[in-house]
Formats: sequence, structure tokens, C-alpha cells
Amino acid sequence: MGRVRGRVTARGNAAELIRKKRDGALLGDQAIADLVAGIVDGSVSDAQIAAFAMAVYFRGMTRAECASLTRAMTRSGSVLEWPDAQGPILDKHSTGGVGDKISLILAPIVAACGGLVPMISGRGLGHTGGTLDKLSSIPGYDATPDLARFRRVVSEAGCAIVGQTADLAPADRRLYAIRDVTATVDSIPLITASILSKKLAAGLDALVMDVKVGSGAFATSIEAAIDLTESLLAVAEGAGLRASALLTDMSQVLGRHIGNALEVREAIAVLTGRRRDERLDTVTMALAGELLVRGGLARDGAAAEAVVEKALGSGAAADRFARMVTALGGPRDLLERPDRHLARAPIELAVTPRIAGFVSRVDARALGLLVADLGGGRRRVDDVIDAGVGLADVRGVGDAVDRDRPIAIVHARSAADAETAAHRLRAAVTVSDEPNAGGGPPILRRMSR
Ligand code: URA
Repeated sequence: MGRVRGRVTARGNAAELIRKKRDGALLGDQAIADLVAGIVDGSVSDAQIAAFAMAVYFRGMTRAECASLTRAMTRSGSVLEWPDAQGPILDKHSTGGVGDKISLILAPIVAACGGLVPMISGRGLGHTGGTLDKLSSIPGYDATPDLARFRRVVSEAGCAIVGQTADLAPADRRLYAIRDVTATVDSIPLITASILSKKLAAGLDALVMDVKVGSGAFATSIEAAIDLTESLLAVAEGAGLRASALLTDMSQVLGRHIGNALEVREAIAVLTGRRRDERLDTVTMALAGELLVRGGLARDGAAAEAVVEKALGSGAAADRFARMVTALGGPRDLLERPDRHLARAPIELAVTPRIAGFVSRVDARALGLLVADLGGGRRRVDDVIDAGVGLADVRGVGDAVDRDRPIAIVHARSAADAETAAHRLRAAVTVSDEPNAGGGPPILRRMSR
């Protein structure tokens, strides 16, 4: 058995630790710290990491074990500090949804209100889009800057939305990649440690979580979302991070567009005041409000709403977005001329319903998968994304649809792709001849400790 700095190597201990977890025993802090060290230095093999993840998947973890795993993963790389920050360090995390472009709107709003937002986002997964893929549709945008550039952009623009760098929570990077291909993503303690280790490594003062519930989310029931949120809030509190969460509806598309460049266009339209969507607006405002209050930038929700409206109405939020894009290498005139820079698929097909009527149900997951299959998402990690494809102007529950009011406009690479997508779109959106009152409320519950 090998030794590292006088102790048994993580690889030597890993089999014993996996056996313990497999048999339902509790893992101590040191054992977990050794395992995480072995994940980072490579002395624990992929097979052992997969076996550990599967043991946790079936046996779960106590809050203390989960907190210990989170701590070890946080410290597995650099932990940022912001000694010269002129405002609180704030961030939002979403569990992922369909058409969810809130990060693109919220980060510059919070920056315009005095917060600093070092946002580490992920790539798309399955039917859910990824903020990073959306931003990568902006030509020249450096989504994986080194830490020095990341910090500089946060200081200068007030926000930077980037991918996970090699230095922040590297243990999560390896563990997550293995979970992704071993059916062990949907484990509450592993999700908790994964999300919070990255947030704690970014040196935040406060965090708000948007936990999605519904057909387009990983948590399809409110009970599952509450369990996950309780775990996230408890471990965040134990780590000294101020956090709260909103459970929000993902049983239909958030906003009107799905697809990478299309969603950037929609975010720009919101930031520049050219377009507003009620559900998208409500959730964005509420999440921004949570951060501003938790970060000490607004007294209460009403005060927060007023400053958020001002940040949007004055153009200050749009300015922050433009500064971030430019500082990360994107075009200077993206907000003025999005059409010049953002990809657009060659085929646009307006899809009308078989009968005129009102949308009564949307299968958001099916729409997310449809866009992924058009080329807008990945089935495998190394798939290349087609930024221009997607669905535009998707109608929501309660909206009237008929020959002149299509369900959505398919943006596709070929006429054949568009026809296939039209067929799937009609199957995913239920139209009834009776009017209905629209979908339920976009915010289902607020949780904090
Ligand atoms: N997002 C993460 O960052 N980690 C998970 O485990 C799941 C979602």
C-alpha cells in the first residue's frame, strides 16, 4: 500500500470506505477528506469513484457526512476571496429548466444594483439547456477564462458568467463527469455537495437557489424539490453561507424561446426593454429581490423590486451585460445589433395547431429534448452544439392558437428536421377548444432557514 506524506494513500483507503458506505456505516471527516484528495490527485480510480457514487446513491448520507463531503470538495482547489470588493458577493443557482435564461438577465441586474456576481455555470444536460452553451453562442465570448481574468471581469463589469475553471472545486469536476455516465446524478447528498462546493469556492456572501419543479425539471414533484432544497439550505447554513430558495414552476417553458442563440436574443430583449414575459419577469424579479435583501442592498422585497425596475428601465443592467460580454471577448455592439452576431438557423417554420383553440398543457421536457435533437443540446459530452436552432415564440398555457397564431416557430438546419420537429411540437403541446385560466403561479414556495 502506498503512502503520501506519511499516511495511507486515498487509493488504499478507498476500497474500505466504499465497503463501509455500501454496508450503511457512517463515514468520518478524515475518510471523506482522503477520498476527495484521491479524486483530485488521481490515486482513486474511476471505478472506485463510480462505486462510491453508487453506494451513496443507495445508502444516502447523513447531513454531517454531506457537509463533510461539501467541505472537502470546496477545499479541493482554490477558494476565492474578495478582499477589495465594493459590494456583497452574490450568486444564483438553478437546478436547470427549459428556456431558463434567468442567469443572463439576473447577473447584470444584480451588478447594476451594487452586487458582485462571480457566476460559475454549467453546460446543458439532457433536456435542460446550459447557461454556458447559451453564452458560447456569442462570437468571441471566453466562457472559460483563467482565474485572473474572471476576477478582473467581476471587478470591472460587476458580473462574469463563466464555466467551471480547473482551479475551482476540481474534485466535483471529476466526480460529476463520472456520475453523469453511471446513473448517479440524482442523489440528494451528491447534488448538494456538487452545487455548494462550487458556490463556496467562489467565496460568496449570499446565494439564492431556483429549484425547478415540473415536467421540465429534474424534480418532477414538489416533495422531491423540498427534500433537495432542505438539504441544500441545511448544508449551506452549516458552511456559513446565507441562502434561500424559491421553488418555481417548470411545467412550461420559461419565457418564449428555447435554443442557445434564441435565448440570448430573448435575454437581450428583456435587458433592453424590448420584450417582457410575465412568468419570466416574476421569477427573475423574485430571485433578484432575494439576493438584494440577503446581500444588504435592499431593505425588503418592495424596495428590491423598485431598484431592480430602475436597473432595467435606466439601461444600467443592459450596460453591465454589455460590459461583461466585451470584457470576455464578445462583440461591443451585441446589444445594438444582435442579428449581426448571433447564429440563426436557415429554416424557420411556423407550426400551427391541428385545431384552433387554447393551449391547455405543455410537455416542457419533450420540448427540451426536441431542441436538443435539432442540434441545440448534447446527447453525449463531446457533441457539438448548433447555436442557431430552437423554438421561438412558444405559446404558454392559456394562450390562443390557430392558423394565424402558431404554437411556435421551429428554427432548424434543414426542412426535414423542421418537419420532424413540427410533428413532435404538436404532440408536446395540448390544445383544447375550451379557454382556460392559464398555468398555475410561477413561484410555488419560498424556503429559508
Ligand atoms: N448541478 C450540479 O452542479 N451538480 C449536480 O450534481 C447536479 C446539478
